[in-house]
Amino acid sequence: MSETPSPLPLTIAVDGPAAAGKGTLARRLAEALGLAHLDSGALYRAVGLAVLNAGGDPSDEPAAAAAAASLDTGRLSDPALRAPEAGEAASRVAAFPSVREALLEFQRRFARTPPDGRRGAAIDGRDIGTVVCPDAPVKIFVTAGLDERARRRFAELQAAGTDVIYAAVLSELEARDGRDSSRAVAPLKPAEDAAILDTSRLDAEAAFRAALDIVAQRAPGWRSLVQDVR
Ligand code: C5P
Repeated sequence: MSETPSPLPLTIAVDGPAAAGKGTLARRLAEALGLAHLDSGALYRAVGLAVLNAGGDPSDEPAAAAAAASLDTGRLSDPALRAPEAGEAASRVAAFPSVREALLEFQRRFARTPPDGRRGAAIDGRDIGTVVCPDAPVKIFVTAGLDERARRRFAELQAAGTDVIYAAVLSELEARDGRDSSRAVAPLKPAEDAAILDTSRLDAEAAFRAALDIVAQRAPGWRSLVQDVR
């Protein structure tokens, strides 16, 4: 029997450490299911970069809070946000409660009323399932071993023409994971009701298929659409 999708917007929360593949996964899920996609890391990167561009220090809370309060959310696809310095600055500004508070409503509104009349949203980040959308029916915590994540991020940066060395990428990821997991507010951790998806031995296609199974289990109203996508 074919089921009709639920009338409520579907929120898929995709959390996990840096370079685990959550961005690619959330984007693919959104495309396949007709949902809007939000890369919440880009919000923190944009705040970190705004502070750097103004000659400030991302570890200075008033400067970070001011940048978050005046953030232009229309420029989240700026390629400058992908630079390692922006990731590093992001994880510093992200530790401040005032910055997180300033970005919270934008993310919740995106989930509640997705743009372009979409029927839901796939949002990737660190605290989507725990803080931003604790009621999301589908929560996926994507993870992978540190070496594998560093290898992927290194390949990605090289492909983009960025001059990097592997050891530096590895230590930057390790430092960022440490900061993200140990901060007092909204630390990186799986929600209690999250499905854990370890992508260490999965390519993007296999991770996508495993995630579709999770969506079908957790959001029964979307099963028939998931079957069509498969
Ligand atoms: O996901 P991405 O690597 O772009 O995130 C950059 C940084 O932004 C993370 O290291 C983390 O400190 C912060 N972040 C966060 N909460 C989110 C998304 C990102 O604290 N929901």
